Amino acid sequence: MTEMNNCLLCHETISNTFGWREFLGLGKEKRICTSCSVQFSRISGEVCVKCGRLWLDVPLEHRHDTSCTDCVKWEQDKEYSGALSCNRSVFSYNEFMKEVLARYKFRGDAVIATIFQDELRQAFQHFQKGNYVIVPIPLSEERLYERGFNQSLLLAQLLQGEIVEVLCKKEAEKQSKKARMERIDAENQFFVSNEETVKNRRFLLIDDIYTTGTTIRMAAKRLKEAGAGEISSLTLIRS
Ligand SMILES: [Zn+2]
Ligand SMILES: [Zn+2]
Repeated sequence: MTEMNNCLLCHETISNTFGWREFLGLGKEKRICTSCSVQFSRISGEVCVKCGRLWLDVPLEHRHDTSCTDCVKWEQDKEYSGALSCNRSVFSYNEFMKEVLARYKFRGDAVIATIFQDELRQAFQHFQKGNYVIVPIPLSEERLYERGFNQSLLLAQLLQGEIVEVLCKKEAEKQSKKARMERIDAENQFFVSNEETVKNRRFLLIDDIYTTGTTIRMAAKRLKEAGAGEISSLTLIRS
């Protein structure tokens, strides 16, 4: 038996062979067509042990033992050293992903999140033994209202794990009149809403993209300040 559905990205018809496996809920229905699927760049093989960047993408002069220069610098920073144990990501950033991400985030095509379910769950297995509580990176209330959904929460909901939304984000304020130190701390707009739920627990932060790692570390730092144990992160993309 064959079932037809349409690719969520290009809307071409996809045929899914429907047999006993699918009937029993064991098979996977394809959400995107093969010609779309092959355009994503999946991260597989050796990666920087800290940030999960594909090792082949790290220039030779930026390879230090098992981590990259960026990660070495983060660990030398006295504010952020130890804030994040490790990050893993599913895809590298490329032109195709840039378009898909824009559709997802900025044009509100929320259903796109579902096309990443299987691969995200696979990457989540890396963390499953760690007994992590899942925390999506939040949006400020204003941004959430504009966008209509939190892209990180939708990704977190694809995973099979306990989600707690203990992190919140306030809107950026004008920084000009503040002293320098005040400014640096004020740049971190994350805060923990309920410190009691955080103490000594391990957290896995979920976000759509890891670029410089600043967002993830700012969030991790607030959780640590509230008494959290080890913190790692899983993002859809490592740019
Ligand atoms: Zn397609
Ligand atoms: Zn790295």
